[in-house]
Amino acid sequence: MGTDSKIEWTDHTLNFWAGCTKVSAACDHCYMYRDAKRRGFDPSVVKRTSAATWRQPLVKARATGEYKWKPRARIFVCSWSDFFHKDADEWRHEAFTFMMERPDLIWIILSKRPERAAGFLADYSPSIIRTVIPNLYLGVTVENNDQRWRIEELLKLRAYAKVLFVSAEPLLGELDLRLDERITCPNCGSESKFAWSADDHDDPTVETAFCINCNANSYEGKYSWDDFCKPHLDWVIAGGESGPGARPSHPDWVRKIRDDCQAAATPFFFKQWGEWGLPKSLGAWDDSLEAGEVGLYRDGPVRLEESGGWGKRCAGELYPRDLSTSRYHKFEDGQEMLKIGKKKASNLLDGVKYEEWPE
Ligand code: SF4
Repeated sequence: MGTDSKIEWTDHTLNFWAGCTKVSAACDHCYMYRDAKRRGFDPSVVKRTSAATWRQPLVKARATGEYKWKPRARIFVCSWSDFFHKDADEWRHEAFTFMMERPDLIWIILSKRPERAAGFLADYSPSIIRTVIPNLYLGVTVENNDQRWRIEELLKLRAYAKVLFVSAEPLLGELDLRLDERITCPNCGSESKFAWSADDHDDPTVETAFCINCNANSYEGKYSWDDFCKPHLDWVIAGGESGPGARPSHPDWVRKIRDDCQAAATPFFFKQWGEWGLPKSLGAWDDSLEAGEVGLYRDGPVRLEESGGWGKRCAGELYPRDLSTSRYHKFEDGQEMLKIGKKKASNLLDGVKYEEWPE
């Protein structure tokens, strides 16, 4: 849990500017829009923030003289905007240079506009950036396969970043991460995965990949481990949507991402189900629920009315299955979900908590 951020995978947020414009379905229920309207300012106007906001990473504690933002703290940059938004072009170099003043922090830039990143970064030498911002994480939000192009854009930035990552949140559809590359085998013509026969994966001079279909070692000298065997992403975050108007994420979408990550040994962080959770299937007499919890029984979702103890009957049909309600969702394949709230929906996937980090 973040130290001053509610976002599970960061410690602090730093908004060099705030305000943004919506670019895809993941933006539909943007929390910044909601909060900005509540606070009385126009969320669609990108404004530079105060000098005091910028200087937060440099503030030291009087008593100790040490930075309040501790070394190795994770800083999510522009959580109320997009670092690569065009309306922030005049401030971006200054912000990027400012980040170099704390090379000991982990700087996390998550964008939905990666097509604008390469042009900006071209003004810098990759090797210098890797030295002066050694812990730079560059990521893209990808909510479904329609936005998969953002990953392709992200991969162009490999030379600059220690970590390239995808945030599949809110997950709104199937997502094929293709964490390991498939290449047509010039020997047998199959679209194969490739195996690596050497133990010495880190040695770029040893190139002994072979096709797992025909076993041909057709690639010797042509490709290196980095070309196709090593995962091209260093971290994947997934999560459902929370807040008003939240849309459900099919559990199989999440499972596929988890399985792809595991197959490629890519760290996987499942942040939350969001508002929509998986219902428990109940027997007529069920002691697995707390009072007020919702599960599925026979003809529809029910809630345990009384607290505690074995043998309390689940009572009441809350959201009839044959009616479309705002708290019950059935996917085309029959998967049912209930809007039970972020806390009850939890962050368990098939009973397991996945909170893996890239290092
Ligand atoms: S890119 Fe992010 S900050 Fe901008 S509108 Fe979309 S969700 Fe909101």
